[in-house]
Amino acid sequence: MKKRIAEAARAAGRAPDEITLLAVSKRHPTSAIASLAYAGQRAFGENYVSEAVDKIERLAERNLEWHFIGPIQSNKTRLIAEHFSWVHSVDRAKILRRLDEARSSDQPPLNCCIQVNLEQESSKSGASVDEVAQLVTLADELPNIALRGLMCIPRPSTDQAEQREVFGRLRELRDSLRRPGLELPVLSMGMSGDLEAAIAEGATIVRVGTALFGPRS
Ligand SMILES: *Cc1c(COP(=O)(O)O)cnc(C)c1O
Repeated sequence: MKKRIAEAARAAGRAPDEITLLAVSKRHPTSAIASLAYAGQRAFGENYVSEAVDKIERLAERNLEWHFIGPIQSNKTRLIAEHFSWVHSVDRAKILRRLDEARSSDQPPLNCCIQVNLEQESSKSGASVDEVAQLVTLADELPNIALRGLMCIPRPSTDQAEQREVFGRLRELRDSLRRPGLELPVLSMGMSGDLEAAIAEGATIVRVGTALFGPRS
């Protein structure tokens, strides 16, 4: 996977170390995470809170970095704020406020990305393009939130040109929102089937499950 990312980076004229591999371990056992951690992988992504908290507690000694990437129910914000370093799937003001309140000021601020729904019809989660600017302003005001950038999950497509078109729109949206002091450096985009297109359009975190761990049970 490191090689696939490095080749995509080079093809795009980018340095491979600009791109972080997030290993998406949902529905894979703790033992699979431990093996990858042993091989040097640090950042892991999970979608389901109780499954994730169990794994995080069992792997507590390993100094891993946990990213929450699934849909967020408001009654789960406390557990997420307590156990994760990153949340990629923030899509509404209520969730942002609750994460901020639940994050202890003894911990570093919670790194967040706003999930954007670029293709309204295809998905229920994600803020609409019109809502993003307000969420960015709110996140910037909250003391326990560190807003890092934007995330998207496009509808699956095997057409590279189509994949790039959507990822390019996330990058342009980010460019239109950034300002001095709020650089929004992170574009969390690209999965097993479309990470080359995402890297070509500026992805800084690719979220890869199947291509690393095999099919999910
Ligand atoms: C499951 C999941 C992934 C990983 O998808 P693969 O196709 O298995 O690489 C990435 N991002 C999110 C938000 C996911 O839910």
